[in-house]
Amino acid sequence: MSAPSIHLDADLIILGGGCAGLSLASRLAASPSTLRVVVLEGRDHYKEDRTWCGWRTASHPYQECAVAAWPKWRITNTQETIERSSNRYPYEMIPADRFYAESCRVIGNCATVSLVMAANVATVFERVGSFHIDLLDGGTFSSKWLVDTRPRVIALRPPSLWQNFVGYVVHGSQTLAERIGDSPVLMDFQLPGTSAVQFIYALPLGADAYLCEWTRFSKERGEESKIEQQLLEWVGENAGQNWFLGRRESGSLPMSLVTRKVQAGGRIVLAGTAGGSMRASTGYAFHSIQRWADACCGALLAGEAPVPPLRNRALDFMDEVFLRALQQQNSSGEAIFCSLFKHTEPDALVRFLSGQPRLADYWPVMHSLPWIDFSLAALQSLYCAGGP
Ligand SMILES: Cc1cc2nc3c(=O)[nH]c(=O)nc-3n(C[C@H](O)[C@H](O)[C@H](O)COP(=O)(O)OP(=O)(O)OC[C@H]3O[C@@H](n4cnc5c(N)ncnc54)[C@H](O)[C@@H]3O)c2cc1C
Repeated sequence: MSAPSIHLDADLIILGGGCAGLSLASRLAASPSTLRVVVLEGRDHYKEDRTWCGWRTASHPYQECAVAAWPKWRITNTQETIERSSNRYPYEMIPADRFYAESCRVIGNCATVSLVMAANVATVFERVGSFHIDLLDGGTFSSKWLVDTRPRVIALRPPSLWQNFVGYVVHGSQTLAERIGDSPVLMDFQLPGTSAVQFIYALPLGADAYLCEWTRFSKERGEESKIEQQLLEWVGENAGQNWFLGRRESGSLPMSLVTRKVQAGGRIVLAGTAGGSMRASTGYAFHSIQRWADACCGALLAGEAPVPPLRNRALDFMDEVFLRALQQQNSSGEAIFCSLFKHTEPDALVRFLSGQPRLADYWPVMHSLPWIDFSLAALQSLYCAGGP
């Protein structure tokens, strides 16, 4: 006698309709797939809560949402300004509200993919080959496959740091217009001295508006009020007259490697930041999430199970060494970043930072780093990998 078939609400449920969840759902919605997909998102509406930037190393479905694609960028310290450029890999900016609106539009046009807002997932359990999800408000859902993109509250595995930041859009400042100009400043280290790695990240948004973020790499998570105060003092000292503050954004990004156990695929997959899409050494995630969404959509269209984000062991090792060197601070973080940007050919560095290096890109990157500190950190990483 065959087992009775169980009615499931969906083939695939995606927990969390943020960057990763919507990227996958909208690809499935735009494809010929007939899979029944439900995205469960905790928020009751979307707003412009962040600005995604990064180098576009490959085309992706959200290109039309980009409001800027700069061919050059700078980093600066008290001694010099290092300007780099690439016509092949622009540094693009995608405001979150455009991304959310585009995703909702594509999903809204598809009868088999649905987005449920204000759906706060309380518990998830597996029973006889299916997943059952209970919402806080009492609703329930079931599916054959699960992709979980809910952020985790995690204790980081050393070596690791938190990338804490607070940013404001500053309007109307002529002084900032002169200082920042028309291309992004990825790191401005000209800040009152501390031993921490900290810098201003500044983006020209057009019409006399600049997003200015104070960023600090720290062993502690958060520090929001302290960073906010430092940012506001910096704006006060550097923005001149007649400016006013607009939108605010903040975050604490885990700069840490995700263990392979967490990543393990199967019928349930962790994705987005939770699944290791965020580059440990930089905090960039948007473009690697796009690559994962392509791969995962491809697997599902082929009738296979969802796949976790792809990891590159060599890059993971280099990130571990990098984080160890940053944590130990034998060389200053400022010196490491300035040397990296100054001495590595921009396209090679972009591919490396974006998680897509060619074999020939590793050597120039390694060559530009303070080799004594990095050799020591590498030896420690090797020892820890082989240790008890
Ligand atoms: C302010 C900010 C700026 C950033 N800027 C950049 C950048 O410029 N470039 C870059 O590459 N990366 C950037 N990042 C990092 C990264 O790209 C983002 O954090 C990105 O949103 C990660 O995608 P995700 O899908 O993993 O998480 P999210 O986009 O945060 O999505 C997770 C979703 O899960 C939902 N959720 C959580 N709990 C539940 C629950 N119990 N039930 C249902 N839903 C739930 C959340 O509401 C959220 O929508 C930034 C991050 C922040 C915070």
